[in-house]
Amino acid sequence: MIKFSNGDSMPLFGLGTWRSTREETYSSVYEAIKCGYRHIDCAAIYGNEDIVGEAVADAIKGGLVRRHELFITSKLWNDSHEKQHVQAALEKTLKDLQLHYLDLYLIHWPVAIKHGTQFPKEASQFLSLEQAPIAETWAALELCQRKGLCKHIGVSNFNQRMLTELMKTAVQAPEMNQVELHPYLQQSALVAFCQNHKINVTAYAPLGAGKIGEQNAAIPILENPTIGIIAQKHGCSPAQVILAWGMARNTVVIPKSVRAHRLKENFDAQSVHLDSDDMLQMATLDADVRITTGAVWTIEGSGYTQEYLWKE
Ligand code: NDP
Repeated sequence: MIKFSNGDSMPLFGLGTWRSTREETYSSVYEAIKCGYRHIDCAAIYGNEDIVGEAVADAIKGGLVRRHELFITSKLWNDSHEKQHVQAALEKTLKDLQLHYLDLYLIHWPVAIKHGTQFPKEASQFLSLEQAPIAETWAALELCQRKGLCKHIGVSNFNQRMLTELMKTAVQAPEMNQVELHPYLQQSALVAFCQNHKINVTAYAPLGAGKIGEQNAAIPILENPTIGIIAQKHGCSPAQVILAWGMARNTVVIPKSVRAHRLKENFDAQSVHLDSDDMLQMATLDADVRITTGAVWTIEGSGYTQEYLWKE
């Protein structure tokens, strides 16, 4: 469990919901709760929060779980950064999820686009940081938190420079940074920076989105021989080793699966405990390979660049 400064806790293990079709989403969320998952990672842009909401409501009605036993995260999409849109975006997510409050609400990206745009196709659909300052978006999140619409607030895809800037004006410092993390993108400096500043870290794409390596690295992550040897040693699967490694770094992992056997396999990674030798070997696998490059945000004329997104 992660502990927040007010004493609340957040499970180190949760379910991802991106790229699950609407049909898959219901069974994935319901099965996951049945299996013991108590943390679900959502976002407005995933387009399936209403289905997550149905599955959660049915699980609660059916007596599988109570609301306060669940930890539910969602994210503010880039088109609602202007302060007048923040609360309405959160309220829409709450309505879709059939909830009165979120446990955690994150700014999805440090990039702003015009209201009503999902993914911009041209430069004119972007807003600059002067037009939609992150400090103002953050202040609007703080207000939502004070109103009880979300218990905790944080960010996603933020680097150290952006976090440092945000902390200068924040009344409530961010309590979470959700970033891409897996053995091929370990981001140890960013993780250490966050943990030193009491900002918890969530690993997205913790399994390398299941396919990393096909285009980006020599060896697909789930077939990496070092991970295979550690898996054999512990009598578990490579996916379980990767997830156990993430949790051993005290980072929250949110693997997505829509298959019952993998939901269980991933859940059971919580019983796998790597030793210091395994951790040393895992550390050697870092390849600085990023799956989510944010290229959609850095099209010509957008005003945002790859350096802005990722360079410290
Ligand atoms: P993951 O690393 O969770 O990988 C998911 C893929 O791996 C799916 O194709 C899944 O297939 C497969 N898989 C799952 N379990 C196993 C297993 N045990 N063995 C083999 N393959 C497996 O990638 P995601 O991109 O989904 O990231 C996880 C979550 O993080 C997202 O769902 C989303 O909630 C969040 N996220 C947040 C982002 C952000 O910007 N903040 C960006 C990206 C993701 P199948 O479903 O068929 O089992």
